Parts: sequence; structure tokens; C-alpha cells
Amino acid sequence: MKVSRRGAERLRGGHVWVYRSDIVAADGVPPGALVNVADERGKSLGTALYSSSSQIAIRMISPATVGNLPGLLRERIQAAIAYRERVVRNTDAYRVVFSEADFLPGLIVDRYNDLLSLQVLTQAMDSETVRQTVVSELSERLKPAAIAERADPRIRALEQLPARPSGLIQGEKSSTVFSMNSIRFHYAALEGQKTGAFLDQRENYAAAAQYARGEALDVFCYQGGFALHLAQHCSRVTGVDSSRPALEVAEKNATLNGPEIEWIEANAFDLLRDYADAGRQYNTIVLDPPAFAKSKRNLETALRGYKELNLRALKMLRPGGILVTCSCSYHVSQPMLLEVLAEACRDIHKNLRILENRTQAKDHPMLLAVPETAYLKCVISTISY
Ligand code: SAH
Repeated sequence: MKVSRRGAERLRGGHVWVYRSDIVAADGVPPGALVNVADERGKSLGTALYSSSSQIAIRMISPATVGNLPGLLRERIQAAIAYRERVVRNTDAYRVVFSEADFLPGLIVDRYNDLLSLQVLTQAMDSETVRQTVVSELSERLKPAAIAERADPRIRALEQLPARPSGLIQGEKSSTVFSMNSIRFHYAALEGQKTGAFLDQRENYAAAAQYARGEALDVFCYQGGFALHLAQHCSRVTGVDSSRPALEVAEKNATLNGPEIEWIEANAFDLLRDYADAGRQYNTIVLDPPAFAKSKRNLETALRGYKELNLRALKMLRPGGILVTCSCSYHVSQPMLLEVLAEACRDIHKNLRILENRTQAKDHPMLLAVPETAYLKCVISTISY
């Protein structure tokens, strides 16, 4: 398959995607095919997986020619596991395979103690041979009690894949308890809208806990990841989320670990406005909203959202208070998030000192040449006066 000059330059720069507009011809190439990629002059650029529906038409899997795809998949999975053995500490839950960042585009595998959760995002990864190879390699290497598949109907439809239910694809166990930084969490593979934890925040939980003290507010708390960590050092912790099912798990997690935490089901924007207006004060506030900027188009609205949240949180922080502010929108860069914080500070005449400028946990690798793999920002700061 030939790609345009722009597509070839992108690949030579180390990126792994070529957009459909940079494909010279793809007539008759079947969905999910393994394709040899060449520039317009016919010089080989490597091997890729093709999608007939995505705007990202090809995702590279090797700069060389690949004869044996199952063999390559096995090698890649082994390399992904070996990398985690080097960088993952203090947990039995982590991302084992992170799609492009592990050169396995379209495949995500998370481990929760003795269970694995698998997600297939592309046509190529959905083929029966690929599935069998992936499941067999994961089973041999990690020996899980069970493997569950989380099928996202929206992603499957966009990728023009047949509907498929979520469910166990190997073994019979569907729930377990996992631990991160010595805190325990419930995991149910087949329940909930977004099953599983936000594993990418694991190192940030531990970092935030180092500074946390006094009265703490965890806004967008989900199943209590930050709140439970804060509770180790704080006198009082309140978690806020709009999802009742998430808060029910959060409460079960608190019971599992001991501390008493107050969980409030509310819209975070409304609650922060009401609390700020009522003059409530905290020593530690965590803001970890969902991705506001899903695309570049709504970047401005997203930045306004981040600003409003941070402004209200800053108003409620006591002198010396700790603000942990996160953004998981790829389109909101770290400089943009810092600028939002700076503007909020200017508006209310407060001064912030940055303690840590953090990112995603190391089991969610970031490829320098593929900027899209780096998406999470976590800024820990303190009000200096
Ligand atoms: N901090 C969590 C992850 C947060 S994910 C952790 O570390 O595990 C974002 C959360 O925001 C989700 O749980 C979602 O239910 C919640 N949410 C989305 N919109 C909201 C809103 N307007 N008000 C309150 N919670 C909201």
C-alpha cells in the first residue's frame, strides 16, 4: 500500500499512524489486512494493520516486513510484560498492553490481580487468529484465573465491527480484589459503565498522598482512588461524583480498607459553586474531571470548564493548602493547563507554588514520536499566600 509524501514523512519521523487522506490507493484491501507500506516511489516503510473505516487508515506494527503476524504479536506481548516488570511497583493492577505505545495498535490489556481485561479497538485486532494468539500468549505468561473482554459498542460501530457482548472469554472468575500502594479495591469485570480503575493515576495517588493533610475534598472521585489514598493522611475526606454506581463501589472500597469517607452524589460544578459561595474551606483538593476536550474543536469550552473548577477549588483552599489538578484530555497540553491555573490565580489574587508536574503511570508508556500516547497531566501545587 502506497502512502503520500506527507504520510511517508510522518512514518520516517517515528509516528505510527497514516491518515486516510495520505493513502495513495487502498482499492480492494480487505478490512483489518496486514499490509506492506511503501512511499510513492515504492521504497518500503514497513508493515501496518489496515482499517477500512477509521480515519487512521494504517497503524504501523513494524519498520520491517512481517511474515508471521502471530509470532510478532507474541514477541510484542512478551516485551510489554518485560517492560512492566521493570517499571511497575507496589501494585498487582496495571496496564499490560497499551495499544500503540506497546506497538500493538488496537489492543488494550489491563491486569487486576488474577484477572485480565481485554479491549479490542480495531478490525485487525478483532480477527479470530489474532484473538487466539493474544489470549494464548497472555494466559501462558501471566496465568490469570480468567480473561474478560470489555466490548465498547460505540468503538465497534465506528470501526464497522459486528456487535459483540462483553463477557468472559476464558475462565469463570469475574470479580477480585486488587491493590495499589497497599490500598485494596474491588474489581468486577462484568459490571458498571466503565469497569475497572483509572490505573493511569496510580503513581499520582501515591504522590498526592505525600502532601495531603487536614480536610480533603476529592472531586470526580469515581470509585475513590484519590480519596482512599488521602484518607491515610487527612482528618476528614469527602468524595464527590455524579455517578451513583461509582460511589457504591467507592463505599465498598472504603469498608475494605477501614477509613470513613463521606461520599456525595452531585454535579461537581454545582457543588463547587455552592461550597465556595458558602465559604467552605479545605486543606487538600483533588480535581480529576473526565476529558472535557474530546477533540480540538471543543478546546475552548474545555479550557473554560477547567478554569471554573480550578478557580472554585483555589477559593476554598486554606493558606498552605494543596491542589491536585488533573486533565486527561490529550488536546489540553501541560502548558495550557498551567496557564488555566495561572489565570485562576490572577483572578483571585492567590499565588501557587508548583510541587510536582506529573503525568501518567509508567505502565501507560509515552512514545516520544507519538505525542498522542501522552495524555494525562497531574499538577500538584500549594498556595503560598
Ligand atoms: N479520580 C478518579 C477518576 C475520575 S474519572 C479515579 O482516580 O479513579 C471522572 C469521573 O467524573 C467519573 O467517575 C464520572 O462519573 C465523574 N463525572 C463526570 N461528570 C461529572 C460531573 N459533572 N459532576 C461530578 N462528577 C462527574
